[in-house]
Amino acid sequence: MADKGRSDMSNASRVVKRLWVFDLDGPLMKTGELYEKALAGMTRIILEIFGEAVSKQEIMTAQNQIDQAMLREINPENGKPYLFHKSRFPLSLVRTYKFFCRKIGKKLIKSVAHRLNKIGARVFDECEYESIVRSEVLPLFKFLKGKGDIVIVLTKGAYDVQFGKKKALQNLGIMDYCDDFIVVPDTKDEMLKKIKETNKAIRYYCAGDTYFEDVLLGMNVGYFGIHIPYEFNWKERGKSEEIEACRDKKRSIAFSDISQISRYFKTLEKFAKLKGA
Ligand SMILES: [Mg+2]
Repeated sequence: MADKGRSDMSNASRVVKRLWVFDLDGPLMKTGELYEKALAGMTRIILEIFGEAVSKQEIMTAQNQIDQAMLREINPENGKPYLFHKSRFPLSLVRTYKFFCRKIGKKLIKSVAHRLNKIGARVFDECEYESIVRSEVLPLFKFLKGKGDIVIVLTKGAYDVQFGKKKALQNLGIMDYCDDFIVVPDTKDEMLKKIKETNKAIRYYCAGDTYFEDVLLGMNVGYFGIHIPYEFNWKERGKSEEIEACRDKKRSIAFSDISQISRYFKTLEKFAKLKGA
């Protein structure tokens, strides 16, 4: 009995107040800006070549469709779907150029394709990563760890790319206030469930910039959602109003940036508690 009592007590002491799962690209890092820079470079080059035969919007739409369609396409380099492989994005820029060559009936210039490939590859330059980490991350993680909470970064992507970003967080001292950095290759739902099952907490929060693929998945397995829309989110760009209209307001909140978590902490806690998160 005495043993049981001790073990119950140690279990109880292990129960933390809150567990936080943060998405990386968007809320913690302005990764979209690197992509935006590359897309602007591609658009400029394509406009230079085709002139008024195409519009900036047409180019952006075509690239986005081509890029997203490639997620499930088999990458001949490894026989697996491209997903977040480093080669997908640069190749999507080249394919966008090829698409307009065919559409307008112009011959493809190899050096242009090569230039576009290089522009696309720059989004994976690790030297850029530290500069795009949001300044609010370190104070927020310090704040949450100061309360004894568990802080986890859960990101979807290619391991080599995402671990390059982890290095940037380490260099900035952020990983000192972070309990885990997890990369999943495809969807997050299974891992969100696993995190919740293996870490006992009174309340679970899940913050991300992609409502349907980050926040809602968490909400569906018992997290309270924090949606932080990001203008350069490649999945949901331009859909902020639409998403806000259908967001489940009972199980989530929308913030403009992560610093609002600490700024409105009491209100957030009261709201999440009320909603049974
Ligand atoms: Mg994101």
